[in-house]
Amino acid sequence: MSQIESSGYKGEALRLLKLADCDIGDIIKVTSKGKVYEGILIPRSELGEGTSIIVKMKSGYNIGIQATADVKIEKVGKGTKPAFASPPIPEQNPALPHVVIMSTGGTIASRVDYRTGAVRSALSASDLYGVVPELSDVAQVDTEIVFSLYSENITQQHWTELAVTVAKRIEQGVDGVVIAHGTDTMAYTSAALSFALQNLPVPVILVGAQRSSDRPSSDAATNLIGAVKAAGEATFAEVGLAMHETVSDKAIVVHRGTKVRKCHTSRRDTFKSINGFPIAKVKDLQVTMQTGQYKRRDPSKKLILKPDFSDKVALVKFYPGLDPSIIDFYVDKGMKGILLEGSGLGHVSKFCFDSIKNAVDKGVVVALASQCIWGRVNMNVYDTGRDLLSFGVVPLDDMFPETGLVKLMWALGQTSDPQQAVKLFKTNIAGEFSPRTLPQEENLTEGGQ
Ligand code: ASP
Repeated sequence: MSQIESSGYKGEALRLLKLADCDIGDIIKVTSKGKVYEGILIPRSELGEGTSIIVKMKSGYNIGIQATADVKIEKVGKGTKPAFASPPIPEQNPALPHVVIMSTGGTIASRVDYRTGAVRSALSASDLYGVVPELSDVAQVDTEIVFSLYSENITQQHWTELAVTVAKRIEQGVDGVVIAHGTDTMAYTSAALSFALQNLPVPVILVGAQRSSDRPSSDAATNLIGAVKAAGEATFAEVGLAMHETVSDKAIVVHRGTKVRKCHTSRRDTFKSINGFPIAKVKDLQVTMQTGQYKRRDPSKKLILKPDFSDKVALVKFYPGLDPSIIDFYVDKGMKGILLEGSGLGHVSKFCFDSIKNAVDKGVVVALASQCIWGRVNMNVYDTGRDLLSFGVVPLDDMFPETGLVKLMWALGQTSDPQQAVKLFKTNIAGEFSPRTLPQEENLTEGGQ
């Protein structure tokens, strides 16, 4: 089957390639402005706009040639399709807990096509199981592909679909669920599932990787083994997110789904618990709880599924000189909620006051988080905060902006009544509010050795 239609090429580039009967992996000759380029045609899916043709040259370098009507393309040789044969599924040990691994895409479910050099979202959950055979010593694994997306493409509809899929499996009586997910927006999904899946009987653990599973430096296997171990055996029953504790492979920590944030673009220990502690740690295949404050595993609990989210919520980051008409724009656009990322204890400039007041008066829920990330919003200290409170702005307490945003989407997905939404928003549902703020040094060291 031709891959050219789904290879990211568009417009003139796609037309010229089809005209010359070229497919991904074929050896092609491109003549442009008197120069000839010969090499392997590679896909565009990850490489930008889709209007230039990307050729992998013999030298190993990729070059892009702008597709214009005067460019000539000739197919020189037929490519061999990249083949990845999924290893056989290891045997199941009936004494082990039953864990479902769902895949949604991302680096953890990707592999590099060495011929073209592109990373493709290619591994299904069962491929992952085959690639990490050690999983068969940890659990009886069942697998399911929910979707295959880089996480930057995941939306509220995907959260809903995922929550419904997880709920079905839990109702069937599994001991735990692991969700392989891209790391970029994994913490948004973990917050979303924390609100959508309440009264969980068993753990639901998201897991990602910073390097794809076929690279020697990959963290996919260790993260996956840690996540499956915790999902099958840990005593907690919450939504968690499992990744490396440090840059070494020694331990995997499970962060609470509402308290975790991606903090580094490339390190393996990119996820940190913010204003909270990791719930559990998996080291030498032993799960230890890191806090006494958690919801317990109890298979007799009846899951409550609340999977709806509103997409009519905007995030506005305050910065010096913010034009308040941005807030008016969102109100005019029909947004039902606005999450403001204020400065310090929870402030925005007085120049925004009229727009904020207008938004609240029109029934828009306006909530305020601090862009400081660590610490707690306190709008009673300065006049600015008190004024904002008097307009009806809802403080986020110690929830950081991303969790606050997801919670606002969730609250407005449950009800269209702004007062009801505010009530839900202020209720501690999944440990998103902590009773007291600890210095971050303590957060980093408690239970962590
Ligand atoms: N962009 C990728 C994603 O979030 C990166 C990753 O998986 O880590 O899907």
